[in-house]
Amino acid sequence: MPTTLTHRPSLSPDPTNPVLAPTRPLAYDHIVTDARQTAIAMARRLRDAGHLAYFAGGCVRDRLLGKDPKDYDIATSATPAEVLRIFPGANEVGAHFGVVIAKSHGHAVEIATFRTDGSYRDGRRPESVTYSSPEDDARRRDFTINGLFEDPENGDVIDYVGGRSDLEAGILRAIGTPAERFAEDSLRLLRALRFAVTLDFEIEPATWSAITDHADGLRRIAAERIRDEFSRIITLPARARALEMLVRSGLIHHFLPEIMALIGCEQPPEWHPEGDVFIHTKIMLAMLPAEAPLELCLAVLLHDIAKPPTQTRDADTGRIRFNGHEALGATMTRDILNRLRYPNQVIDDVSFMVSRHMQFMNVRHMRVATLKRFMAASTFPLELELHRVDCASSNGCLDNLDFVLAKRTEFASAPLIPTPLVTGRDLIELGLTPGPRFRELLDFLQTEQLEGRMNHRESALAWIKNQLSEGH
Ligand code: ATP
Ligand code: MG
Repeated sequence: MPTTLTHRPSLSPDPTNPVLAPTRPLAYDHIVTDARQTAIAMARRLRDAGHLAYFAGGCVRDRLLGKDPKDYDIATSATPAEVLRIFPGANEVGAHFGVVIAKSHGHAVEIATFRTDGSYRDGRRPESVTYSSPEDDARRRDFTINGLFEDPENGDVIDYVGGRSDLEAGILRAIGTPAERFAEDSLRLLRALRFAVTLDFEIEPATWSAITDHADGLRRIAAERIRDEFSRIITLPARARALEMLVRSGLIHHFLPEIMALIGCEQPPEWHPEGDVFIHTKIMLAMLPAEAPLELCLAVLLHDIAKPPTQTRDADTGRIRFNGHEALGATMTRDILNRLRYPNQVIDDVSFMVSRHMQFMNVRHMRVATLKRFMAASTFPLELELHRVDCASSNGCLDNLDFVLAKRTEFASAPLIPTPLVTGRDLIELGLTPGPRFRELLDFLQTEQLEGRMNHRESALAWIKNQLSEGH
């Protein structure tokens, strides 16, 4: 990709410019963090060298909202070469034009030169950037609430894009012409939903219709980038609203179309008085704890993904069934998460949880060894939560959950899967050769141990010797 970096002299601050007029800080004076002090000190070094330096983007937005910013970004008139001279240990970020990361006191601050992005022919990244003025730099940003600057010396907000009033009114609005901004960079489609849901903001109507018009632009975005945005969206506390918006905007159609089939997929009303599979799934997402981990959110989202393709109706009674939806669901989950390039551990855990979500129906009839093995899975704590919201969102029957929780207390004094009484090595010493029979014997002994019928190594060894002498 050709990259051109042209330098234009920066504008000096103009005290008569109304957008630079001081504004009263909102109620954020309590936010005094190390990260902030570090960023203030860095901005001061840039200023002492004769450059403009403002806090920019998310940290200004978050501070105005009274939230402690996660990290600080500085926008400056200094070129990257000048920034590197002022911060000799800093690194230039390869993937982003003109961005330098400076570290101090364990905090990393991104320092980016004021710039205008060139054309975005591929809908993903600008082909060139031009160093420019603070105002141009504000205008190349995505949403008005992300286009604010702050003077680090006095907290004054510098607003070229009307971001402050949108922030106060709770409105997410694209800067400039929304259609152009989404055509330039399709990742902004997902970012728009993420910011709206994170902040509980409304999306301004022209911005919303541009999102729906340009939804198919997502097809040009690499799966990994969609995955990262989607993971942040689906783990938000308001993830149910996010799912609703992903569907209504048409965005989900371009990366997770399987969800669309859940809408209108009827379920037996006696088990699911709440409605179709989509409604059921959405209620479950809303019932999860705010901080639910990614694997759990994905498992809830996908647990019934195979209900539409497995749905049948009994000829005589018309009763709806979804036989085998958990097994097919696990396969579909694997395919979907693979396609979105999730790490193998996430794919394995989520599809495993989907495959087992119906087993809770049987827990009261499982023998002890089966139940202990079921409960010993590393995903089990998350599965408990999946099962809880599955029931609470539908028929409300929590008997199986209560049963398992009581068993967990009952079993708590010893490991669910104790150290084996005998091992493969013991079997070899007894003259057996490794093979399928090995596993059978060891599994049998483990079952006896889990059931509490065999508790000593000697009796286990004696039992094997007996088996061998009987020629089994
Ligand atoms: P957070 O980090 O809390 O998600 P943020 O606003 O800091 O929110 P970043 O992705 O860290 O978001 O980006 C920093 C700033 O860079 C944004 O506030 C915005 O001004 C600008 N920005 C980021 N991505 C884009 C984009 N795709 N198009 C235009 N501007 C962007
Ligand atoms: Mg950020």
